[in-house]
Amino acid sequence: MAKKDIRIVVTLECTECGERNYTTEKNRRNDPQRLELRKYCRRCRQHTLHRETK
Ligand SMILES: [Zn+2]
Repeated sequence: MAKKDIRIVVTLECTECGERNYTTEKNRRNDPQRLELRKYCRRCRQHTLHRETK
């Protein structure tokens, strides 16, 4: 089955410690750039900026 590649799975990585804490989906049309989200990092034990890997 041909799947549209508009929505893709991305991994979010803590910019403080490099831990990969989250995976999410994004719409390539809405977010052509790297995603950056503030998320809770277990290792840092606080909310940090998480960025899409790759
Ligand atoms: Zn962290």
